[in-house]
Amino acid sequence: MASLASPSPRIPAALTVTCMDCGAVHGAEHAVSICLACGGLLDANIDLCQRLTPADFVAERGSIEAQSGVWRFRKLLPPISVDRIVTRHEGNNPLFHDQRLADYAGLSGGQFAIKHEGHNPTGSFKDRGMTVAVSHANTIGARVIACASTGNTSAALGSYAASAGIPALVLIPEGKISASKLSQTIAYGATVVHVEGDFDVALKLLRELIGSFDVYLANSVNPFRPEGQKTIVFEILDDLEWQVPDVIALPGGNLGNTAAFGKALSEAYQVGLISKLPQLVTVQAAGAAPFAAYYESGFDQYEPVQAETIATAIKIGDPASLARARRSIELTGGIVTSVPDDDLLDAKALIDRIGIGCEPASAASLAGVRKLVASGEIAPDATVVGVVTASILKDTDAIVGYHLHDDDAGQRREFANRPISIPATLDALKKVLDDAVHG
Ligand SMILES: *Cc1c(COP(=O)(O)O)cnc(C)c1O
Ligand SMILES: [Zn+2]
Repeated sequence: MASLASPSPRIPAALTVTCMDCGAVHGAEHAVSICLACGGLLDANIDLCQRLTPADFVAERGSIEAQSGVWRFRKLLPPISVDRIVTRHEGNNPLFHDQRLADYAGLSGGQFAIKHEGHNPTGSFKDRGMTVAVSHANTIGARVIACASTGNTSAALGSYAASAGIPALVLIPEGKISASKLSQTIAYGATVVHVEGDFDVALKLLRELIGSFDVYLANSVNPFRPEGQKTIVFEILDDLEWQVPDVIALPGGNLGNTAAFGKALSEAYQVGLISKLPQLVTVQAAGAAPFAAYYESGFDQYEPVQAETIATAIKIGDPASLARARRSIELTGGIVTSVPDDDLLDAKALIDRIGIGCEPASAASLAGVRKLVASGEIAPDATVVGVVTASILKDTDAIVGYHLHDDDAGQRREFANRPISIPATLDALKKVLDDAVHG
């Protein structure tokens, strides 16, 4: 029998979502991906009447909040009960400061820090979203979780679904995914289906399946994934002792992260954690930049494009979270820009060379900030945090291509580092050593 002194069970605030178009509120005790009334995108609801201080995120030893850099911020996440949470101890990732990055970006007197999301369990920030989506799926008793993906999402889903013991179904556009991402997904035991056609074809097919079968959709329209991704921003602010930087820069593909970052900042502001907002800067690859063009038009004209870029993680021609992302840019007085693949690859090579390393798409942050400092849109004394989205091991083909092969104009790449072949003599080896030491 419970004694009167025992604390009453914590009744979670309702698990609900709101449509950002028509304002309808829907319960989320079952799978929800788009508004049942109008087809709009959904936002998960958070208790914004509470007042929070940084002390609210100091985790108790051994608690789930201490294990996970996502669940540490549970007070600003949808109410999911602890025994349903599926975590692989994601988050709590490093923030690296290195003067060479600031110099490259042209930030004389400013700072460029890297928030490294490649340190997550499957090597990308997708883990932060996936822990919340799979925990929600686990809460509602989903029997199968599915996604269509060009890579990192499928690796994350494979891992978290396997942890939860829920079968995962992954639709992959044939031949359009890096070997490292595909092998991760296979190894985690997901059912992998190659679909003829591109990403959009695969997603459309999956949506038809959802219509007729009880399958939980973990694609980026899922309102619970952005919730986990919000914690990238909370963690950056916490790293900086809640001093707001001038700029947070990130790559943009499907724009789920841009959407999540704006929601995070708005919520941190509303509960009293911060008193001003940083500018969000979203950087796309020039060959896949429909959001940058939309921004250029003053958010007046939007056109999907046929995407083409070496950065496969942001090779998206018609971003799913466009409307939510626009809201983030407008909220923060942000900027959207784009960079050519060559600039992106040079920025990546520099991040690699100073010992940090990242996937090509990740380097859009640094390349984009460099461009905006040069054009005067970011002040040279700004404090900037650039989000690096995934690990260097996610795309080894791109590394080999950059260092061993010339660019399209027949030029050696700026930071190319070519292995040297020598005969097996001490003299030859000494000469290599001499060159390496003396430049
Ligand atoms: C998914 C992904 C992106 C793009 O993020 P969006 O939320 O789709 O804009 C960027 N980089 C990497 C490595 C990714 O996996
Ligand atoms: Zn609606």
